[in-house]
Amino acid sequence: MGEPTHQDHRHLVTQLETERARLEAILQQLPLAVVIAEAPDGRLIMGNQQVEAIFRHPYHAASNVDGYREYRGLRPDGTMMEPHEWPLARALSSGEVIVAEEVDILRGDGTRGTIRLNAAPIHERDGTIQTAVVVFEDITEQRRNERALEFLIEASEILAKSLDYETTLESVAGLIVPRLADWCVVDIVDDAGAIRRLAMKHRDPDRMPLLQTLEYRYPHRQDSAYGPARVMRTGKAELHSDINPDSIERAALDAEHLLILRALDIRSYMCVPLVARERTVGAISFTFSDSGRRYTEDDLKLAEELGRRVAIAVDNAHLFRAEQNSRALAEEAGRRITLLANISRVLASSLDYDVTLEQIAELAIPELADACIVDIVEADGRMYRPAVAHSDPEQELLLRQLSNDASPTIDDDSPHHRAIRSGQPLLVPRITEEMVRASVPEHALDRMMSAGYQSALILPLVRHGTVLGALSFASYDPGRYTAETLPYMRDVAERAAIAIENARLFRDSQIAEARYRSLFEHAADAILVADVEGRYLDANPAAVKLVGYSRDEILGMRVGELVTHGPAWTDDEYARYVEDGYWHGELALRRKDGTEVPVEATATIARLRDGAVYLSVVRDITERRAAERMQRDFMTMVTHDLKSPLTSIKGFAQLMQRREAYSKTAVDSIVGQTSHLERLINDMLDAARLEAGQAELRHGRVDLVTLGRTVLDYCQALTQDHHLRFESTQPQIIGWWDQDRLAQVIQNLLSNAIKYSTDGDILLHIDVRQASGMREAVVSVSDQGMGIPVDALPRIFERFYRHESAERGHQGLGLGLYISRSLIEAHGGRITVESNPTRGSTFRFTLPLGEHGNVSR
Ligand code: ADP
Repeated sequence: MGEPTHQDHRHLVTQLETERARLEAILQQLPLAVVIAEAPDGRLIMGNQQVEAIFRHPYHAASNVDGYREYRGLRPDGTMMEPHEWPLARALSSGEVIVAEEVDILRGDGTRGTIRLNAAPIHERDGTIQTAVVVFEDITEQRRNERALEFLIEASEILAKSLDYETTLESVAGLIVPRLADWCVVDIVDDAGAIRRLAMKHRDPDRMPLLQTLEYRYPHRQDSAYGPARVMRTGKAELHSDINPDSIERAALDAEHLLILRALDIRSYMCVPLVARERTVGAISFTFSDSGRRYTEDDLKLAEELGRRVAIAVDNAHLFRAEQNSRALAEEAGRRITLLANISRVLASSLDYDVTLEQIAELAIPELADACIVDIVEADGRMYRPAVAHSDPEQELLLRQLSNDASPTIDDDSPHHRAIRSGQPLLVPRITEEMVRASVPEHALDRMMSAGYQSALILPLVRHGTVLGALSFASYDPGRYTAETLPYMRDVAERAAIAIENARLFRDSQIAEARYRSLFEHAADAILVADVEGRYLDANPAAVKLVGYSRDEILGMRVGELVTHGPAWTDDEYARYVEDGYWHGELALRRKDGTEVPVEATATIARLRDGAVYLSVVRDITERRAAERMQRDFMTMVTHDLKSPLTSIKGFAQLMQRREAYSKTAVDSIVGQTSHLERLINDMLDAARLEAGQAELRHGRVDLVTLGRTVLDYCQALTQDHHLRFESTQPQIIGWWDQDRLAQVIQNLLSNAIKYSTDGDILLHIDVRQASGMREAVVSVSDQGMGIPVDALPRIFERFYRHESAERGHQGLGLGLYISRSLIEAHGGRITVESNPTRGSTFRFTLPLGEHGNVSR
C-alpha cells in the first residue's frame, strides 16, 4: 500500500464517522447506561440516554472529573461521594477495572436509587490510558426488594423470638429506625379496647422526649381524622409522601402541640394497621423527617407486610396470654376452692369459741393476707380482739400489742369501726398514710407505717343482720384486694361468720347448760327427768335424797317404779298430761326403804329436737300434810265439840228470855254472846268445808236486787251509828246462784264495813255491766272507815289473816273474807278491794250473767 490519498482520507473519515454513529446508535439502544470519559481530564465524551433515565435528570457532559459532582452518589454510610470516588474516575486515573460495584444515588426527582456499575480503562498501544468506559444499570427495584425481604426476615426473627410482645415491639421499632423511618411509634389496642403506645423510637435519641411528651400530653383521640386512631378505626393504611408544613399547623391542637410537631419535623408519613384474623390490633406509624427521604407506595407495601407479621405476633401473644391467664385463673380458682373447703372443714371441726377465732386468723395467712385480725363485737356493743395472725412472728407481736390498746367500743370514727358499724366491707386497694393515722394510736404510728402494708380489706362478719365482728386483712402487695377478689373474700367472711355464730351459740348453750345444771343440782325441790318411755334420764341430789335411791339406781328405773299410782294419778290423768304438756297435783313416791312420801308434783313436757323429755319438780309435802291434818282435826273438834253445847246453851237462854223470870240484860247478853260464838263456829266450819272441797253450792233463781235489800235491812238493825244505803239502776237482776251463800257474802262485807268504821254512810251498790263481751252483776260495799294499809291489801283474803289494826278491839278470826272469796270464785266471779286510809274501803265482787241477764239453766 502506498501513501493515503486525499480521497482515501475522506473515505476513511466518512467510514470512521459511520462507524461512530453506528456505535453511538448501538450504545443508545443498549438497555444499560454507558458513559465514556477521556483521559486525562475525565471529560465525558459520550453518555447514552439510559443515563438520563436512571439519574432522572439531563445528561451532564462534565468537562472534567470534578463535574461528576452533578451525579450525586452516596457512600454506604449515606454521606455524599466525592467525584473521584466514582468508578469511572478511578478507572481513568488508576486503570482499575471495577466489577459490579453498587452505589446509591440521589436522583434528579429527589428519590434514591441504586445502580450497579462496571468500569474499565481503554489503553493505547503504548499502554497509556486513553479513555474509560462505565456501564451501569438501575438495580433500585431489585435492591429494594432484597432489602425489604431481608428486613422482613429480620423482623420475623425478632417477632418469633418471644411471646412478650411489649419487648418484641421495641425491637421491631429498633429495626424500623433508621432503615424505614426516622422515627416510629407502635400503638396496640389492649384487652379493654384502649389504645396503648407500646413502642417508640427516634433515630436521634435527643428527640425521644418529644415523642414521650406527645404520647403523654396528647393521647389518642378515638375520633381522630388521621394517624393511628383513624387507621385502627378503618383498618386502612395512610400514606402522606409529602407533608406540607401548613397541614402540620392545621393539625396542631394547641401551641405546645405545634412546637412538638415542628421539632419532630414530619415530612413524610405513613401508618399501617396491624390486622390479624380480620381484627385490627394496632398500628405502626412511620415518619421521615430531615433525612429527606419520602415514603413511596413500595414503602407502604413493605410496611403493610411488616404490619401483618407484627399483628400475627401480637395476636399470638394475646392468645397465649389469654390461655395462660385462663389456666392461671383455673389454678387460682382451684386453690381458692380448696382454701374455702379447708376453712369450712377446720372451722366445723371446732366448736370451741376461742380456738375457732384463732383458726380463722391463721387460715388466712399467707393465702389471703400477710396480716389478719379478728374483732368480735359482743351483744352489749363492746369490742375485743381475740385473734391476730401474721406470717412474721415479730409483726404478729406488734399487732397483738396494738390490739391491747384497741378501743373497747365501736363508736369511734376510725374507718375500721365505721365499716364494722355499717356492716359493709371496706376495700382499701392502696393504704395511705392518713388511713394509718386514722386507725392506730399515735405511739404505734411509726411502727405501723414501717410495717409497710399496701392494701387492706375489712369484712364485717354479719349473721342474720347482726354484726358479730370483723375480719381485717392486710397485705404487702398493693393490688391484693380488688373489686374482683371481693366476692371471694366475702365468701370466706361468711363462712367465718357461720363458724363464729356456731361457736358462740355453743358457748352460750354451754353457759346456759352450766347455769341450769347448777340450778338443777342445787334446787331444794327434787327434779326428775324421764324420757317418753318413762325411763329416768336424770335426777338431782334433792331427788336422790327424797327417794333414798342413788342417782345411778334412779337412772335404771322407770317412772312407775317410783310413783305409787294413787287416785291422783290415773290413766286419764296421764293422758291429759301428755296432751296438755302440764300436770300439777299430789301423789306419793315409794322410797327405797319401802315407805311412801306424799309429794306435790309439777310435771311438764319439754319437746326438744331429739324427742320429748318429761320433767317433774317434786316437793315433799309430808309436813304440810301433817299440819293440814292437825288443822282439820282441830276444826272438827271445834265444830262438833263446841257447836253442839253452844246450841243447847243458846236454846236454854232463849227459853229463859221468854220466861221473863231472869234478869233481862243478863239473858240478852248470854243470847248475844252465844250468837256471836255461833257465827264464829259457822265460819270455821265453812272454811273447813271449803278447804276439803265439801262446800257444794245449791243453785236456784235469785234476784240479786231483792237479796241485797233484805241483807241490808237486816244489817241496818244491828247498828245505830251507821246509815246503810242501797243503790241500783236495775229493778231486778236475775241469776242462777246459791242464794244463801250470796247473802252470806253480802252480809259479811256489810258487817266488816260496820265493824271497821265508827260511823258514816255505808253504800251497797248492785248493778249490771258489760265486761269484755260478757254481762256481769257487780256488787260493791263502800264504807268511810279506817281503810286498809297498802301492805295488807294483798293478804286480807287469806285464811286467818287479820291486819294488826283490826286485832285491837274487833272480834274476828280472819276467815270472813277468805270464805267470801271462795264462795264468789265458786260462782265463777271475782272479788277485789280498793282502799284508801282517808276515804274508807270498797269491796267489790262480780258474778257472771248470761247474755240476756239470766244464767241459762
Ligand atoms: P275478820 O273480820 O274476822 O278479822 P275478815 O276476813 O272478814 O276477818 O277480814 C280480814 C281483815 O281484813 C280484817 O281483820 C281487817 O283487818 C280487814 N278488813 C276487812 N274488811 C275491812 C273494812 N271494811 N275496813 C277495814 N279493814 C277491813
